[in-house]
Amino acid sequence: MKYSRIAEAYEKIEATTKRLEMTDYLVELLNESRTDLIEKIVYLTQGKLYPDFVGIEIGIAEKLALRAVAKASGYSEKAIEKDLQKTGDLGETTQKFMNKKAQSTFFSTPLTVQRVYETLDKIANSTGSGSVDLKLSLLAGLLSDANPSEAKYIVRTVTGSLRLGIADMTVLDGLAIAFGGGKETRIQLERAYNISSDLGRVAKVVANQGLEGIEKFKVMPGEPIRPMLAERLSSSEDILEKLGGKCIAEYKYDGERVQAHKMGDKVVLFSRRLENITEQYPDGVEYIRNHVKAKEAIIEAEAVAVDAQTGEMKPFQELMHRRRKYGIQQAMQEHPITLFVFEVLYVDGNDLTYEPYPIRHEQLKHVIDETKHIQVAQSIVATNPEQLEQFFEKTVEGGSEGIMCKSTNDDSVYQAGARGWLWIKYKRDYRTEMTDTVDLVVVGALHGRGKRAGTYGTFLLAAYNPDEDIFETVTKVGTGFTDADLQKLPELLNKHRISHKHSRVNSMLDMDVWFEPSVVIEIRGAEMTLSPVHTCAMNVIREDSGVAIRFPRFTGKYRIDKAAEDATTTEEVIEMYRSQLKKIDG
Ligand code: AMP
Repeated sequence: MKYSRIAEAYEKIEATTKRLEMTDYLVELLNESRTDLIEKIVYLTQGKLYPDFVGIEIGIAEKLALRAVAKASGYSEKAIEKDLQKTGDLGETTQKFMNKKAQSTFFSTPLTVQRVYETLDKIANSTGSGSVDLKLSLLAGLLSDANPSEAKYIVRTVTGSLRLGIADMTVLDGLAIAFGGGKETRIQLERAYNISSDLGRVAKVVANQGLEGIEKFKVMPGEPIRPMLAERLSSSEDILEKLGGKCIAEYKYDGERVQAHKMGDKVVLFSRRLENITEQYPDGVEYIRNHVKAKEAIIEAEAVAVDAQTGEMKPFQELMHRRRKYGIQQAMQEHPITLFVFEVLYVDGNDLTYEPYPIRHEQLKHVIDETKHIQVAQSIVATNPEQLEQFFEKTVEGGSEGIMCKSTNDDSVYQAGARGWLWIKYKRDYRTEMTDTVDLVVVGALHGRGKRAGTYGTFLLAAYNPDEDIFETVTKVGTGFTDADLQKLPELLNKHRISHKHSRVNSMLDMDVWFEPSVVIEIRGAEMTLSPVHTCAMNVIREDSGVAIRFPRFTGKYRIDKAAEDATTTEEVIEMYRSQLKKIDG
């Protein structure tokens, strides 16, 4: 297949904001492609070459890409740089210069998908001395044979700024329609994706073997499982009612979620976003290797920073010291961790994700050989609100954020990749509606004035609506930012800056600047109201009104552990609004 076919699909996808149309263009592309290429096409449309957990990124700095564009187009770096300052998008600038060049040259070899993928793969895998020159010449070679539109997308892909806005769920829809026999088969594909976290492999299997192949997908050590997530409620009564009168309530630890895969002596740790974080926690690796009593296992734990002297738990922020490439041994001595294990998903050939939680919980107690540094999460079985309340008070006194209440019913399976009512969190801050915190996605900003000239003054924040896979605005925040934050935020955000409102953002407000939904920050709101200008929960509580958070304040916490899709959901916002009303009513 020619790469120009892909570029053509990208052009169409970019031009629409409708998810259904996007899916149609994707389906056309998938249908036309040879089945052995499907896997590569799926990775490419997401701006990748491999699933995230493999950890291979194309990662070319914009400066280097610019040099390649100069080489391929025959124009000077200076001229290209000047244009880049105007457009703010190297892809667009590239297209312009390649267009100019195209008018003076006649033939080149058409690019195939295979060649583009293989060259990008070589670029991604070249390291060490001389690798910069090699990357430069590989990229320039590719661009020389590309037409202007192809060149634009190649440059965006290598600099990590493709951003077509195609969500995982849209790809799954596309695959279901193209190869599964219809959109309704997405649910099977979704399960395969949720337990493998590899969209490319799901695509390859369904394209070659149909749904039969998909049914054979199994949980496998080494392949991360997409994490199960919790809903939230704000009273013990509501929680027990929702969970059928009984639950296993656990301490909610404030650290970093870790999914550990033990394969004999080899241990791999994945973050909540499924990046490989094994290198950050050599101590965690040892605890798993020596204290998980199985040859092969997949478990989930919260890694919590503890005081080296007293063993007391420390806040989440302390783990920042472990996010580094070098000096990890020293950081490990100074900032030790304890693993609090709360799930077991696989043990020696047995997939436990279909077992109800009480069975997994029993297994967990058997499989962990507890020490000071690896422990099963503290828990009680609660059957009445007083018990739950008492446990909650106790954990909060012990420094916890609150508790996690887990269903014990027969259907309490591990819902990979889903937020559902089988886990319900009950956090300290829900106790008073005036101090609630939420994790929201930055989708836009207004330029700052006065003291804040040159940076941003106000940020538009959104909650995530998983049903429609869009981000809906709830508030604008300009308070709580220190000078350091105001410096750091543009650094974090500008990578995601786009020239128009993102296709998955639903906003009625106009902003100076738009961002691809990516950065998540924690906000403390004072109260919630109905609002005609915010789109979150539009028409749910009242016709033509959404729900908004008033007097929001940044808490200082960047939720770098969360992807945009892990932000507070529309459903949670509605729940918070309703529970606030209940409290006001008495
Ligand atoms: P939140 O990030 O506020 O949505 O809360 C969910 C997170 O709490 C999970 O992703 C875990 O990282 C963390 N957590 C802490 N303790 C537990 C526990 N006992 N069970 C499940 N998750 C826990």
